[in-house]
Amino acid sequence: MSSVAAGCLHVVATPIGNRDDLSSRAVAVLRAASVIAAEDTRHSRPLLLYHGIDTPLLALHEYNEREAVAGLVERMLGGQSVALVSDAGTPLVSDPGFRLVRAARMAGVRCIPVPGACAAIAALSVAGLPSDRFVFEGFLPPRSAARRSRLRELAGDPRTLIFYESAHRIAESLADMRDVFGGVREAVLARELTKMFETVLGEPLDTLAARVAADPDQQRGECVVLVSGRGEDVDAQLAEGRRIFAVLREELPPAKAARLAAALSGAPRKALYADGQHER
Ligand code: SAM
Repeated sequence: MSSVAAGCLHVVATPIGNRDDLSSRAVAVLRAASVIAAEDTRHSRPLLLYHGIDTPLLALHEYNEREAVAGLVERMLGGQSVALVSDAGTPLVSDPGFRLVRAARMAGVRCIPVPGACAAIAALSVAGLPSDRFVFEGFLPPRSAARRSRLRELAGDPRTLIFYESAHRIAESLADMRDVFGGVREAVLARELTKMFETVLGEPLDTLAARVAADPDQQRGECVVLVSGRGEDVDAQLAEGRRIFAVLREELPPAKAARLAAALSGAPRKALYADGQHER
C-alpha cells in the first residue's frame, strides 16, 4: 500500500524538540507527498533533511493561509497529495492549518491525520494531574488585565486546565494564576519537553509562582502550564477560610485577619482579603 493517498491532505505531526519523535509512517508520508505545506520552510528543512526527506516545500503560515489555501485545494482536486506540517507538534494546535483543513473538507478532499507529538498532551501525560477531563486553553492574552479576566472565567472549571505560555511571560502568568485561582491549587510547569533541559515542576501555585519568579533558569525555553480544576477540597478550604476571616475581622484589620485566616485554613489570602474588600 502506498504511504500517501492521491488527492488527499495529510496532517502530519512533527517533533516538539527531539528530532527522533517523528513516526516512521510520518517519514513515509512526507517522502511520498507531492508537496509539503510548512509553516516555516526554513525551520522544517533541517528536520526533513535529517530524515532523508527532499519533497518540495511550500510556505503556509498565518499571513498567507487565506491565499495559499485555494491553490492547495486545487492541487488536491487535481490528484496531488499534500502534507501539512507546522514548526513543531501537531498542526492546528495553536498553529496554522485550520483554514486549509476546513477548505479541503468543504471541497470534498479527504483529510488524513498522521498523529504524533503535541506539547499539551505530552505535558498532561507526565503532570500527575487528573487527566480524565481536561481543557486546552492555548495561549492566554499577553496583557495582565485581559489575562486575569480570562482566568476568572476558568476559575470554577473542575477540569484540568492546560495553557501554552512563552518563557518571557511565564513568571507574570503564574503570579496571575496564583492570585485568581488561589495559592493552594496544584499546578505543573512542563518546560523544554523532549529536550536537553526538560523540567517538570509540580507544586501548589503559591510556591511554583515564587520559585519561577526567583529563578531565571525557569523562565527559559518552551512552557506548558497545567492547573488542576477546582475541586471540592478547594471549596471547603475557602468556606473555612471565610468563616475564620469573618470572626477575626471583628477584632482585626482586614489584611491581618486575611493573613491569619489563610494560615489557619489553607485558603488563599488574596481571595479572603478580596472578599473582605467587596463586603466593605
Ligand atoms: N502545535 C504545537 C503542539 O502540538 O504542541 C504547539 C505550537 S505552539 C505555537 C508553541 C507552544 O507550544 C510553545 O510556546 C509552548 O507553549 C508549547 N511547546 C512547544 N514545544 C514544547 C516543548 N518542547 N516543551 C514545552 N512546551 C512546548
